[in-house]
Amino acid sequence: MDIVMVTPECAPVAKVGGLGDVVHGLSRELAVRGHGVAVVLPKYDCLRYDRIEGFGPCGEDLHIPYFDQSISCSVFSGMVDGLQAYFIEPRSHHNFFNRGVYYGHGDDPERFAVFSRAALEFLVKTGRHPDVIHCHDWQTGLVPVLLEEVYRARGLRHPRTCYTLHNVRHQGTVGAHVLGMVGLLPAELMAPDRLLDHRRHDSANVMKGGIVYASAVTTVSPRYAQEIRHTDQGCGLQETLEHHAGKLSGILNGIDTHVWNPEIDPLIARPYTAARLDDKYENKHALRRRLGLSEAFKPIVAVVGRLDRQKGSPLIQYGLGFALANHAQAVLLGAAVEPDIDHEFQALKREIGDSPDCSLTLGYDEELAHLIYAGAEILLVPSAYEPCGLTQMIGLKYGTVPVVREIGGLADTVVDANYADRAFEERTGYVFRNFDAKGLESALWRAIGLWHRHPVYFRQLQVNGMRVDNSWERSGEAYVSLYQTIRAR
Ligand code: ADP
Repeated sequence: MDIVMVTPECAPVAKVGGLGDVVHGLSRELAVRGHGVAVVLPKYDCLRYDRIEGFGPCGEDLHIPYFDQSISCSVFSGMVDGLQAYFIEPRSHHNFFNRGVYYGHGDDPERFAVFSRAALEFLVKTGRHPDVIHCHDWQTGLVPVLLEEVYRARGLRHPRTCYTLHNVRHQGTVGAHVLGMVGLLPAELMAPDRLLDHRRHDSANVMKGGIVYASAVTTVSPRYAQEIRHTDQGCGLQETLEHHAGKLSGILNGIDTHVWNPEIDPLIARPYTAARLDDKYENKHALRRRLGLSEAFKPIVAVVGRLDRQKGSPLIQYGLGFALANHAQAVLLGAAVEPDIDHEFQALKREIGDSPDCSLTLGYDEELAHLIYAGAEILLVPSAYEPCGLTQMIGLKYGTVPVVREIGGLADTVVDANYADRAFEERTGYVFRNFDAKGLESALWRAIGLWHRHPVYFRQLQVNGMRVDNSWERSGEAYVSLYQTIRAR
């Protein structure tokens, strides 16, 4: 099959978060399976140009409507980790993608509307008729809309569209003029069953447009697909998702097992496997040496991740204290963007960071993250909401037992050691339901208790997790099967 990804991010050249990893991991897996894959991105000035091979102009000149005028776009090409990538640069005094950052400007909706239109124009101009155009999050929500409303008539009759929702908190609510700006007809599209926003009746909702017009809509975990349809996690899109439930499904993200694999990880102190789990403890010693922790007879409870409300920042703080008070050591690696949350963690670091049982590292450190996954025994992920989550899957792979809230992808990937209707070999961690201290305590207490009182069972839990297949191989297969389904419709 021929697949074109139209996306605002693709690791390692343009990555803000998980979306960049997903596009990269899935595209690579599709290519390995022999499918044709191309990735179309904006030509941001802050791209990691050092990671693009053979970068240069590919000679295409595109002209797309911009209000009653037009904008010319240049297209560049290069290889990203073996993937064919194209980078679109609108040439205008707005400097849409020369801002030094990927997102965060008041005109983000305009920037990505222009990109979405240019990406389809590029396909028409080059005569590329992919089987599937796969687009991602609100930034490319207009791609399915433009395909049906404009480009079918211009010859792009073959492609189907797959639209993946990575996070529905950000939907791209825009003034109707943005639709007109790129050649759509606001009068037709500003209807409740099309793009009209559910809250602001003078605005269009770009993500809603993607959902309404795409051939298939996916989320990054099956549970999240249910949550956004049936609970307020849908952030107002519930009715639309319900109406289009027939084409909505969830496919779990994979993790990149070339990067996250304790057997070959160059960033850890000693490689290990499920069969050689004792070697994991070399990493525990190395982690303790690196962070100045004592060699006490205690498990290490770790947190790795963004420190914000989504990740459950109050429960993270509470969990660290609870671990320290209950015969465990606590390690945190995380960065906060919001100043008030950063202050809270700085204060916590001053309060407990000097303890020989505790270490808080506030910032981003890829290398330390690897050593923490390898050296810790318990990984705490108490998210308020979680479309998929990667850290718990990495924890499983490294034999670091996850303690997670029963939400989104966390619920789909961790099976409770005590309260699951699954065979013991399938149980991998601890799960709690309520987003409060009591809920967290119930699960963390059981994990620490098992480590102290039943080490043989704890070890079995670690091995169970290490044997779970969360690779892109499995997820890639699910996407290919979905692509085939929408092709056959
Ligand atoms: P998000 O919602 O932030 O995308 P995920 O769990 O999907 O969360 O992915 C987080 C990824 O970022 C993981 O690979 C994790 O190891 C990494 N990460 C998060 N915070 C840090 C940090 N402070 N230092 C190093 N790596 C981090």
